[in-house]
This record gives sequence, C-alpha cells and structure tokens, in this order.
Amino acid sequence: MHLLRRPARMHIASVGLSKVGFLFSLLFCGLLLLLIPAFQPTARQVDLPQPRPQVRTSASNSQQISGPPTVSDSAGDPDTGLNISSGGTNDTLETELFENDDYRGTSSDTDSNAEVQELAGPGARDLLELKDIFIAVKTTRKYHKSRLELLIQTWISRAKEQTYLFSDGDDKELQRRTGANIINTNCSAAHTRQALCCKMSVEYDKFIESQKKWFCHVDDDNYVILPSLLQLLSSYHHSQDVYLGRPSLDHPIEAAERVKSNGLVSVKFWFATGGAGFCISRGLALKMSPWASLGNFISTAEKIRLPDDCTIGYIIEALLEVSLIHTHLFHSHLENLQKLPTDSVLEQVTLSYGGYENRRNVVSIAGGFSLLEDPTRFKTVHCLLYPDTDWCPKPKPHSRK
Ligand code: UDP
Ligand code: MN
Repeated sequence: MHLLRRPARMHIASVGLSKVGFLFSLLFCGLLLLLIPAFQPTARQVDLPQPRPQVRTSASNSQQISGPPTVSDSAGDPDTGLNISSGGTNDTLETELFENDDYRGTSSDTDSNAEVQELAGPGARDLLELKDIFIAVKTTRKYHKSRLELLIQTWISRAKEQTYLFSDGDDKELQRRTGANIINTNCSAAHTRQALCCKMSVEYDKFIESQKKWFCHVDDDNYVILPSLLQLLSSYHHSQDVYLGRPSLDHPIEAAERVKSNGLVSVKFWFATGGAGFCISRGLALKMSPWASLGNFISTAEKIRLPDDCTIGYIIEALLEVSLIHTHLFHSHLENLQKLPTDSVLEQVTLSYGGYENRRNVVSIAGGFSLLEDPTRFKTVHCLLYPDTDWCPKPKPHSRK
C-alpha cells in the first residue's frame, strides 16, 4: 500500500514542483533581463584601467587626471628628422603648453569608484606600501654633488630602501656616507640617446629583479612627494596595465619605425616625459619584456631612434596598445612651476626646478628657508611635509604676554 501510494504522491508533488519551478525560472529570466545593462562596462573602463577607491581619505591628496593640454608644439630632432620633442629643451614652448593646466581639477574617477571596486574584486583591496614601489633616479657622475646630495638629504632619506640611483660611475664615498643605493650602470656619461637608453635598460632589469609592484622613474632634479605617489598608485592595481605620467607635447609623437624589410613606417604614440617622472605597473612591465629586458631596450630604441622616455611610450602605446594615463600631478622644469598654486604644491607627485639658465623657475612656496638658502625649494617642501626632520627649522615657541 504504502509503496503503491507513494508514486501517486510523488507525481502530484512533482507536478506542483515543476509549476513552481517554471514560475521561478520566469522570474529569474525577467530579473536577468533587467540586470543586463548594469553589467555593461562603460567605454572608459575598457580603454583605461580605472582608479580604485582611495585608501586614504586625506583631502590634501586629490588626484588629477585629465586629458592633455591643447597648445600646439613641435620640435625637430636632427637625428631623426621627425617632428619630436623628447622632453627636451624648449622652455617657452613648454611654459605655454602647461598654462592650461588644471592643478586641482575634479577627478574623473569618482563616479565610477564604487563600480570599479566591484569589478576589481577582493584582491584589489590590498594596501599599497612605500616598500612596494621601486624608484629609479637617473643621474650622472657630474651631478652627484650638485643634485644628488640634495635629494638624498630630502625625499630619498624617507624612501632609502626602495630608491636606486642609476649613474655612470662609482661613488663609494657618497654611498658609505649616506647609505644610498648607487648603481654604476657602466653606461657612457654622455647625454646621448644611446647613453640614456642604456641607463633605462638597466633600470628596467633591476626593477624586474626587485619583485616590487610599481616602477617609477625620475630625474635627479625631481622631488618625489612620497605620500602623494603612494596615494596615486593606490588608486590602481599593479596587475593592471598602468602607464602613468605627463606628456610634454599636446599631441602624440610621430616617429619612423624601422621595419624588417629595411623600410620605414610612420607610428604615432603618446609618451610621458622622463623629466617629470612616470610610473609603470608590474603587470605592464612584464609585458614589455620582449622589447625591454636584457639589452633589448637599446635595440628597440634604435628602431625608432628616439630617447629613453619616448621608447618607453613606443613599447607601451604602439607595441602593446596600452594607453598612457595623462596626469598633471607630475612636473618637469619644462613648465612654468611658479604657476602651481601654492596651496596645491604638496598634493603633487613630482616637482622640479629650473636649470642653470632658468633659476627662477621653482615652485612658489614659503617656509623656513629663503630663496637664497633653498634655491630649488626642495628643502622647504621637505620641511613642510616632514617637520620633524632634524635639520628643519623648529617653529618658534609662542611668546607669553
Ligand atoms: N643626465 C645623464 N647624463 C648626462 C647628462 C644628464 O644621465 O650626461 C641625466 C641627468 O642626471 C638627469 C637627466 O639626464 O637625470 C636630465 O638631465 P638634465 O636635467 O641636465 O637635462 P634636461 O632636463 O634639460 O633634459
Ligand atoms: Mn632636468
């Protein structure tokens, strides 16, 4: 009996269940249809890696990423005969070029932050620390005293372990006295395309060896504002393809690429000017390996006959088809640094100062040092960032009435 009845009960039950199941699947399909537009990525998310939500909430470190400025410029390179400027030498031109900068423009990333956090997944929430960043400083023997000492005394002292100075000679005395990591690249000390590319090639290999998450390159006349750098890079994930920096031109560079059949083809790409510094995520750096590692960087540079920073742009934009993320937080002395609003100076990622011929091109910031005592303003910036530094002027105690 029991056995006989059971199939009947099961039949009724299964009919009931399939009806409920049918209704549920109808509901589920409807829900899916409604949700499909929400899953569509926006065009921008496909093009460029999006900043992640900021880890720190400090209002003083807002990020400024925007399109390039729009004043036209071109400078010829006698070596290539092409329309290029290699982060070069034309101060007036660059001054104009950067006049349109919005130093604290609203970031374009805020709207999509919540979305990005979901897209990035749980792995994206790991906190970035200073020790995860490899900072390469390009220098040369003749600037050890006049430029490097100032950097070692200021920002490098706060990032000693991960900052490497790529030079063309040994300086055991400086190394011993300061504990700085000075690397003799054995590259030529000349300011030629080949010598500069030789140094960049060593920088790249050392970074890959270091296992760090980010590669940042600066010149020896740059001040790196470490908290801002950390905050900027925290917006991205090192496994994303990220190339961050500031172009010195308002248009992509056009170069002639040597191809196998001994011909030349025109190639256009953006590049971040080395004099303002730039950063590359480890994920992207690894993809650059066939054209950048173990001396390949030098032969790649020869293919387009352009300097080191342009070659980086060529590999990333032209060969790997990853777009440069333009940021106004990086600064070279090719722009008019006095135009940076004083209250935004400490929010920037890199600063610079005018060369011998343009000594007055420095950021305008007041502090414990006069222009005479601190012509580059780097000491003043440093003491505002780290007032506890032993050589910084101590604030005068309040006098009692
Ligand atoms: N540099 C170099 N070898 C040289 C001259 C300069 O490696 O013979 C480096 C220098 O240390 C700096 C960068 O190249 O990091 C740019 O040099 P500089 O600031 O003198 O020139 P500019 O900014 O006008 O290109
Ligand atoms: Mn310079």
